[in-house]
Amino acid sequence: MYVVPEKEIASLITDDAAFKAVEAVFASMARGDAYNFPVVREALGEGRQYGFKSGLDRAGANLGVKAGGYFPGNADKGITNHQSTVYLFDPETGRPTAMVGGNLLTALRTAAASAISIDRLARKGAKVLGMVGAGHQAAFQLRAAAKVRNFDRVVAWNLHPDMLPTLGKVATELGLPFEAVSLEGLGAQSDVIITITSSPAASLMDAHIRAGTHLACMGTDTIGKQEVEPALLARASIFTDEVAQSITLGEAQHAIAQGLIKESDITALGEVIEGTHPGRKSDDEITLFDGTGVGLQDLAVAAAAVDLAVSKGVATYVDF
Ligand code: NAD
Repeated sequence: MYVVPEKEIASLITDDAAFKAVEAVFASMARGDAYNFPVVREALGEGRQYGFKSGLDRAGANLGVKAGGYFPGNADKGITNHQSTVYLFDPETGRPTAMVGGNLLTALRTAAASAISIDRLARKGAKVLGMVGAGHQAAFQLRAAAKVRNFDRVVAWNLHPDMLPTLGKVATELGLPFEAVSLEGLGAQSDVIITITSSPAASLMDAHIRAGTHLACMGTDTIGKQEVEPALLARASIFTDEVAQSITLGEAQHAIAQGLIKESDITALGEVIEGTHPGRKSDDEITLFDGTGVGLQDLAVAAAAVDLAVSKGVATYVDF
């Protein structure tokens, strides 16, 4: 098996490579060639969380698992709180084929999903990007979004305003003017909005959002998190990575629980990629992507990283 350590990932996989890998696996899921296995997530005590996201992609010949979690004491030890590793196996034999550092890959595959939704669902002429959230993931989200539309400025809101200047630096690197605004101002100006917070309650309200907006709601990946008012989902056309996750642990969990939407109102983004759903139907439509994060995304980017590592000679082969 090959070993590709975390420290090599940044020099191997680009936003574009992650975009292609995630788009291919979303399409594979829509065709029924790939499916995710049930997620395991356990509380270890003292705020530590650990879990497994896994799946099989017959088209991409990927079988594997991402094992990872959140360890709040890590920062004091000089290591990141989120820790994950991807293990890949040969789907025909079950033999291990690779062990890959999963920390940076998680951010890249999450940003790729959001960017794919913008590419497929936002209005072509979208000019203003609104960012809700300014934590670790937000910078990756902003960079990936800037690759799929010609934005001319970024407006942003964060519950903790002191975090916004760091995100502002990313916008500046991309040559985009950056302004901190109220939630009302953000909704009134933005053509595309990315939400990427760990909020337990809605920040963005239905009344904030104007016709024609595309939202990529990326922060809600667990029961009990929430970023937008459920009434907004009732007004929007909803897309997701995986419907089963969207209704149980994604942003749609709240609108479903309140009876505002039904499971059949939610479309897998892979269907748009495959051309079996038209996606956005008019310039006035509000489209909302509920990005919950699936194991197959992790396997897809890890497999791409292994291929690149082998071709560049930085993968270590272990006779396992
Ligand atoms: P982070 O801790 O670096 O940043 C947290 C962000 O949430 C900050 O902007 C912070 O100001 C904001 N926040 C915290 N409490 C809040 C509250 N009560 N109300 C509103 N905002 C609040 O986290 P991160 O790594 O950037 O991750 C952000 C979110 O994205 C987390 O919920 C994480 O689990 C989720 N995530 C989702 C996926 C996916 O595939 N969908 C992948 C990775 C992370």
